[in-house]
Amino acid sequence: MTLIVPPSQDVFIQIPKVILRVNEIFFSLQGETSRVGLPTVFVRLTGCPLRCNYCDTKYAFYGGEGMSISTVLAEIDGYKARYVTITGGEPLAQKECLILLRILCETGYLVSLETSGALDVSQVDARVSKILDIKTPGSGEVEKNCWANLNYLTQHDELKFVLCDEADYQWAIEMMHKYLMGNICPILFSPVYGQLDPALLATWVLRDRLQVRMQIQLHKLLWGEGPGR
Ligand code: SF4
Repeated sequence: MTLIVPPSQDVFIQIPKVILRVNEIFFSLQGETSRVGLPTVFVRLTGCPLRCNYCDTKYAFYGGEGMSISTVLAEIDGYKARYVTITGGEPLAQKECLILLRILCETGYLVSLETSGALDVSQVDARVSKILDIKTPGSGEVEKNCWANLNYLTQHDELKFVLCDEADYQWAIEMMHKYLMGNICPILFSPVYGQLDPALLATWVLRDRLQVRMQIQLHKLLWGEGPGR
């Protein structure tokens, strides 16, 4: 065990000596969810067992650098931010991710986790806001949805549908009704960037009086696609 003094608290936290494979750490504006626009440190972990048709982070499937949690924390601390998002790839594909999430919460950060919805989230620290995808038929990975994950969500988590077309949109409404998702947590509808016209999706949401938050990825509007944003 190593001891560190976190930046925001006058307490010692024990940091297990485990290694995570990290694709990138960067500081940007949160591009999605109810935290959109907030300055946030992103930690992108390497690896994902899925292959969604529209994946915009294929570069995170492989490579990266082995980093200790202490090193990751030190880099995050350098940005002096309150918000941290752990993303991927699929971050939960590395079991050590659970330790990183817990330590970040104990250190005093406001932490969110972006996950595909295909892996078990039951062990994620309760203080973490889980942003959980529901994979649609258009993604090509609909069979990977782990529906049991819905049992581990609360009102400070968010469910996200990334929609390829109108068939995905109708399917998402069907799933919302089937699983009573509106009672679980806020729901996000996102158009696939460059594939589904956001204005068209907005028209459908208003037409159908859906209780969802439609979102466009802010970082792509600002900077387009690419690593580090
Ligand atoms: S789950 Fe995310 S990272 Fe993995 S293939 Fe799908 S979009 Fe890409």
